[in-house]
Amino acid sequence: MLTRNSHSSEYSTAGDARVGMLLAEGGDAPVGTVTLVGAGPGDPELLTVKAARALAEARLALFDHLVSPAVLKLLPADAHRIYVGKEASRHSLPQEEIARLMIRLARAGHSLIRLKGGDGYIFGRGGEEVEALAEAGVPFRVIPGLTAAQGAAASTGIPLTHRDHVSALVLATGHSRGDRQLDMDWLMLARPRQTVVLYMGVSNLPEICRQLCAHGLPAHTPAALVENATMPEERCVTGTVEQLPKLARQHHIRPPALIIIGEVVGCRRTSDVRGHMVEVRDQESVS
Ligand code: SAH
Repeated sequence: MLTRNSHSSEYSTAGDARVGMLLAEGGDAPVGTVTLVGAGPGDPELLTVKAARALAEARLALFDHLVSPAVLKLLPADAHRIYVGKEASRHSLPQEEIARLMIRLARAGHSLIRLKGGDGYIFGRGGEEVEALAEAGVPFRVIPGLTAAQGAAASTGIPLTHRDHVSALVLATGHSRGDRQLDMDWLMLARPRQTVVLYMGVSNLPEICRQLCAHGLPAHTPAALVENATMPEERCVTGTVEQLPKLARQHHIRPPALIIIGEVVGCRRTSDVRGHMVEVRDQESVS
């Protein structure tokens, strides 16, 4: 069965008959190669040259929820697309099943690309997938992608580091597993002279901001929320750590969004090519 969604063209899911047919092919064909491709934060222009080439040459692609429709458009029209994504707690295909599917497809002689939002090795479970491939003896290669933090920094004008303010950059996840409590090193995250970028943290934002302030981060520390970074619908909301939960509610910030905390948010500058200060796209600056 083929289904359709906002992801532009037709795609299969793991249980579809078309996938069954692919798995049944092969015979004595040599094992295919899996290429893990970082699809970047959304804007297809931000793909690496290597990633763009891998997409253009792909016959078969497994992709996640966060891979933007604009990136998927770069696949050849007749390439087979299999959606294996997840949305928040709604897992469409468990992680082990994704690895198993890739291994079975490769053993059936298919080379494939595994497209992941951002960089596969940054909160992308690329490590787990590559472990499974290596154990199964399936050849693989990895093509990096710009991680969401880099995309958001460039498109919103927030430098992630700045010699006057920062000597460390922390990328952390603000996601709790299942109904477990957030298990984060609050003292480390609340340290001065660093920028903290939190992935998957929007639903836990009130707790995150409360804990950071309780562990010594000044409540007036500048902070930003960047939703759909690098996409046409990007929004950026800025304020202080203390104000952030309220701002998120007011502006209905939804995943995918990043939380950026640190003095660098105050260094935000935007400008058009002629050097005029502008608010890019429909960003809202609230402080
Ligand atoms: N591997 C990805 C991260 C996957 S985790 C990377 O390197 O970027 C998923 C989280 O990434 C989302 O919940 C969100 O916090 C962040 N994210 C991914 N793409 C984003 C985007 N375009 N804008 C804002 N946040 C994004």
